[in-house]
Amino acid sequence: MSRPGNTIRLGLLCWIGSLALVLAKGPTPPPPRHHGYHKMMSLIMNNAMDGIMRAQEEWSPDDKQNIWELSGLDEGDIMTDSEETSRNAVREAESKWPGGVVPYHISDEFDDEEQQVIKGAMEEFHENSCIQFRPYKEGDSSWVAIKNDSPGCWSYVGRRGGGQVVNLGNRCVQHGVAAHELLHALGFHHQQSTHNRDKYVKIHWKNIRRGTERNFKRYPSSRVQDFNVPYDYESVMHYSSHAFSKNGKPTITPKEEGAFIGQRSRMSDKDLQKLKLMYGCESSTGGGITTENPDYDDHYRNDNFWSFHFSVQVSVILIWISVQVSVILIWISVQVAVILVYISFQVSVILIWISVQVSIILVRISVQVSVILILISVQVSVILIWISVQVSVILI
Ligand SMILES: [Zn+2]
Repeated sequence: MSRPGNTIRLGLLCWIGSLALVLAKGPTPPPPRHHGYHKMMSLIMNNAMDGIMRAQEEWSPDDKQNIWELSGLDEGDIMTDSEETSRNAVREAESKWPGGVVPYHISDEFDDEEQQVIKGAMEEFHENSCIQFRPYKEGDSSWVAIKNDSPGCWSYVGRRGGGQVVNLGNRCVQHGVAAHELLHALGFHHQQSTHNRDKYVKIHWKNIRRGTERNFKRYPSSRVQDFNVPYDYESVMHYSSHAFSKNGKPTITPKEEGAFIGQRSRMSDKDLQKLKLMYGCESSTGGGITTENPDYDDHYRNDNFWSFHFSVQVSVILIWISVQVSVILIWISVQVAVILVYISFQVSVILIWISVQVSIILVRISVQVSVILILISVQVSVILIWISVQVSVILI
């Protein structure tokens, strides 16, 4: 009888386990609005995808090019929507994340180790700036969907509204690459596209692969801000010296002697300095808000408010579920115990009844057998006496 009870308990535990897992993983956002499928389709239609995938597979950490430069998009890794021109993309780059809070969702396609690498990159932002990546929650209007369902490493520039993919293809899950793509999502362009770059780097046009020259364009200062932070050779957003090279020779070299470009390990001090200025991390309010949109301030406070309350709500829900489940389990245990006692009682009564009946039958049989035996004994005795008398008479 304990089996149905165990099954119910097991079922409940599985249900609680699944629920806890869902709550721990957080909600899954709807499909991202900015997913880059049209670009991927266009690369496939132009027979460019095989080359991109091969180049990415063949890339090694010793390669002079950065892996994200091999993703086949604008400047290598900048995704735009189909209706956009690059010009619009620049304008949209002014879209910052309110309060520096960036909701994210990491796809299950990444294994634990890869997820740790991505979260490690986010941690670098947390430790060094006021940028806060936090898991997507129901109701978020903008978020970063970190995925691995397309080849290449790429991102949109700045907040786009709705979900926007940051793609980290097979070879792209590296700390520096993740930081680079997240900086794009935060609104950063490549360092060498800044308006005054020609003072700092030389572009070797003759070494650039035909058709990729536009990747070396500059943006006017009216469109891209440098926050008066000096040109940064060490930026993780800088092209490598061999980006888009057609002949293995450099395409971009520093004018300053001894300077190195194209490091891909982590954000530079100036990257962080610029990030903090862009998001007002060191403003007197300490709130990380530098935007012309006054609504952002409230939005920021609300975001933190809801973030805190979300944690409290999840805890309350978990405690409530635990209490409910405990009550249900206790109730089921009591019910099972009552049923078992009742059944035991019934079985005992039946057994006693059967025993009594059997005893009665046995006694009856014993009595009847005894009577028969007595009768037989008497009969035999009478016969023996009669025979004895007859024998005596004959003998006398
Ligand atoms: Zn990039």
